[in-house]
Amino acid sequence: MVAVFDTAFHQTMPKEAYLYGIPHEYYDKYKVRRYGFHGTSHSYVSGRAMEIGGLDPKNSKIIVCHLGNGASVSAVKNGESIDTSMGMTPLEGLIMGTRSGDLDPAILEFISKKENLSLEEVTNILNKKSGVLGMSGVSSDFRDLEEAAAAGNERAEEALKVYGYRVAKYVGSYIAAMNGVDAIVFTAGLGENDKNIRNTVAAHLGFLGVELDQELNSKRGQELVISKPESKVKVMVIPTNEELAICRETVALV
Ligand code: AMP
Repeated sequence: MVAVFDTAFHQTMPKEAYLYGIPHEYYDKYKVRRYGFHGTSHSYVSGRAMEIGGLDPKNSKIIVCHLGNGASVSAVKNGESIDTSMGMTPLEGLIMGTRSGDLDPAILEFISKKENLSLEEVTNILNKKSGVLGMSGVSSDFRDLEEAAAAGNERAEEALKVYGYRVAKYVGSYIAAMNGVDAIVFTAGLGENDKNIRNTVAAHLGFLGVELDQELNSKRGQELVISKPESKVKVMVIPTNEELAICRETVALV
């Protein structure tokens, strides 16, 4: 039997990316640090991006946006993950279907006191009842949210905006982390199918000369370069294939 850990790809993160700003003893005693998840997907998708984009694996800067029900962004420099948005648990980072992502940790104590809830109960709310579901009160599924927003539901519209803004901010921060970017890749349920989220991120990166071809961006679930040929940064859609990545790891091991 072979176990392929979803955290493995992120083991190349440097300390500056994985240490938290808390007393070092918690790292020493309990290994409290950022691990990251979706590594199998980030590894497969960044590898495909290098092949499709003709990028040099030893000299490339790729940002992968894995946007599904769970969601994370990663910075892949020269083929290695150097940062990713999920942390010690999948709760950190982007807003997700039902997870809050980043928030002021003091909110836990505040809500726990106001609502008379235990820490476990608040953590459960942050994992299962937050994200776009909690924000909108409609659904964790982006298809429902877009339908509701189009019908005038303000909370659904707001949730979509906050979600997109957070993705764009993470992409921007990883461009700084790598001091540049060659390709930005979208994958997973939302990343592969939803042109709106890709347009939102591209709109925030206009200053870098990112331009999408709207006809290509309207296609769904295909492996495609969706940026215009003159775009300085390539933007791609690459359907993830975690099963194939796990199979390859297994073959390599046995
Ligand atoms: P995953 O976890 O990768 O299977 O992604 C599931 C999520 O992708 C769903 O909850 C939807 O929100 C989103 N999704 C799937 N198909 C579409 C679509 N056609 N348009 C927008 N979002 C979609």
